[in-house]
Amino acid sequence: MDRTIKLKLDLSNEDKNTLKETMGVCNQVFNEVAEYGFENNTYSKIKIHHATYYPIREKYPELPSAILQGTRDVACEALKGVKLKTLPVNKPYSAIRYNKRVCNVKLIDETVSIASINGRIKTTFKVPIYYEKYIDWELRTSTLRYKKNQDTFYLHITIQKQSPEPNGDRVLGIDRGIVNIAVCSNNIFFNSSQVKNTRAKYAHLRAELQNKGTRSAKRLLKKISGKEKRFVTDVNHCISKEIVFMPFDVFAIEDLTSIRVQSRNKGKRFTTKLNNWSFYQLQQFLEYKAEAVGKSIVTIDPRYTSQKCSKCGHIYKGNRKGHSFKCVKCGFSLHSDLNASRNIADIAISNFGRACVDRPNVTCDEVKALTGIETEHSYKLPISIGSS
Ligand SMILES: [Zn+2]
Repeated sequence: MDRTIKLKLDLSNEDKNTLKETMGVCNQVFNEVAEYGFENNTYSKIKIHHATYYPIREKYPELPSAILQGTRDVACEALKGVKLKTLPVNKPYSAIRYNKRVCNVKLIDETVSIASINGRIKTTFKVPIYYEKYIDWELRTSTLRYKKNQDTFYLHITIQKQSPEPNGDRVLGIDRGIVNIAVCSNNIFFNSSQVKNTRAKYAHLRAELQNKGTRSAKRLLKKISGKEKRFVTDVNHCISKEIVFMPFDVFAIEDLTSIRVQSRNKGKRFTTKLNNWSFYQLQQFLEYKAEAVGKSIVTIDPRYTSQKCSKCGHIYKGNRKGHSFKCVKCGFSLHSDLNASRNIADIAISNFGRACVDRPNVTCDEVKALTGIETEHSYKLPISIGSS
């Protein structure tokens, strides 16, 4: 995972001037390199290097070679980014990206050494308290930015930490939905009736206000949608917290961009929008909280997770009917969200090479007692339930 943190540099006026001049030269070099590539229809770093390196070194002898090379690479990437269709042009104070050779940051010591047209500038910064957890992360790139109105330089540094390599038996699949906010492959359902009631209440109010259509109704509409959002946020906080403390290392969820929204909500734009927002928020909360306890979230391709039999792997659309899943091939039946959550866990395991998942089975009566949902399957094993 990557993070970007922003550090304010302590600099004397003399050093500021040096950095401003360095930025100016850098951006000039960027423009010249980009122009060469644009005119010769190439963003190849090697080709552009051969054609421009010596002429530019001669023209700007004060510019350290490491900065020149870094700037050339950035220009090549910019050309590639626009597919050579337009000429990228930097301004004198455009931000410049530095590699580790040019800009050596030591987060623990709160020091940095930056190459410039006038030797290296060594200075300090203060790591804000909320960034302290990142000080042992690996540094990737630094971008130097100049804020003209403050006459201040900021260093935006990208840092990286390898996600913990989880071991085999600790992957949890989570199916997110509307009726059940989250169903986990260890048979835990999050489907607070409070959420349902609150949502129903707001949905009713919304419908009334939308019919009215007056200005005060619109104002009230805005107010209640804020209230509903805060309520959902609170629920998502509680659920994500409970989930990350479960005894698993990796939590697998479906890739949000293609998450299914139940058809009965089609046409109800607000509901759909709120749900999409809510799915995304739950994911974000899970990511942050998992990271905080040294665990990780993986996303998987959601295709067929609801149609596939988690026992024999048979994929058939008719396997799922509402809340119940029954495989036409092997006869396995299970609550459909639970079946999906097991598929999600299995996909994550096959993607990331991890082994078995802890999955006790559930009885229909227990599911019914706890969730109010009818299921028809023959397994006799325990279930637990979380609520917000
Ligand atoms: Zn089957």
